[in-house]
Amino acid sequence: MRKAAEYVVKKLKDAGADTAELCETAGHPIVYGEKIIDAALPTVLVYGHYDVQPPDPLNLWTSPPFEPVVKDGKIYARGSCDDKGQFYMHIKAFEAMTKLKTLSCNIKFMIEGEEEVGSDNLGIFVQQNKSKLKADVILISDTSIISLDTPSITVGLRGLSYVEVEVTGPNRDLHSGVYGGAVANPANILSRMIASMHDENGRVTIPGFYDKVDELSAPERVALNRAPFDLDVYKKELDIEDINGEAGYTTLERTGTRPTLDVNGIWGGYTGEGAKTVLPSKAYAKIPCVWCRIKTIMR
Ligand SMILES: [Zn+2]
Repeated sequence: MRKAAEYVVKKLKDAGADTAELCETAGHPIVYGEKIIDAALPTVLVYGHYDVQPPDPLNLWTSPPFEPVVKDGKIYARGSCDDKGQFYMHIKAFEAMTKLKTLSCNIKFMIEGEEEVGSDNLGIFVQQNKSKLKADVILISDTSIISLDTPSITVGLRGLSYVEVEVTGPNRDLHSGVYGGAVANPANILSRMIASMHDENGRVTIPGFYDKVDELSAPERVALNRAPFDLDVYKKELDIEDINGEAGYTTLERTGTRPTLDVNGIWGGYTGEGAKTVLPSKAYAKIPCVWCRIKTIMR
C-alpha cells in the first residue's frame, strides 16, 4: 500500500506538481499534490484512490493481478479500471497540460488508500485540511462510462451498507450421518433466510427497505432510459440467458436507481474438495445492501 502511495507521489512530482506528499492517517496514507498557477483562477480538486478490491480468486487470473498486461487494447490488472487507471489518466492529462503550458486552472490531487474499506480516515483528513483542500470543483473518476464512444457524467451514486450474518446452531460441528435430520442445520436455515429476502417480483421483503427511496419522476425515467443500452449485448457479455430483477424497472433503472440486496459470499461447513459429512455449527453470509438516491448518466 505504501509503495503504491509513494509511486503516486513520484508520478505527481514528475507530472509537474509544485508539491506532492504522503499524508499520514490512522490507516493508509493519503496522497496530496497541487499546482497553483494563479490564486485568482478556479481550482479543481481531483479525487481518486490507489487501493483496490482483493484480487481473489487468484486461480481465475490469466496474468498476475499486480503485473499489468495489455491485451486487445485494454490494460488487465487489479484496479486498472477502479481506480488506478482513472486517476492516472488525470495525472497524465495534468502532465500534458503542464508541458504544453495549457493548464488553465489550479489543480489539487487527493488520492486515498481506503476507498474499498469505507474511507474511514478520509473524513477526518478532510475535516483537518479544509483550507488546503479548498476548491471550486471536485472531479471524481471513480465511476464508469456508458461505452468507449459515449463520454458520460455520473451525477449521483448508490451507497452501501455491508452486513455479515452469522447463524449458530449446535455448539460444535456434528456428523451429519449421526445428527442430520434431528438438529437444525445453520447452513440450511441461512439459505432459507436468504431465499425469503426477495419475493417473486424481485422486490426485497424486509420491512421498511424501500421507505426512504426516492422514486424517479417520469421525465427522469425517460432521460435515464435514453442512455445507449443494448440488452442483447449485455446478456451476451455476461453469458446469461435472461436478466433478472425488480419487476417494473428497466435494467438501467435497476442498476442505477433502485436499492438492491445481494449475497456477496456464503460459507459454512466443509467447502474443500471432496466430501465430508458435517452438519456445521455455524454458517455465514456477507450481505450488502446497495442503497440509492438518484443516479443519472448523461452524455
Ligand atoms: Zn473505486
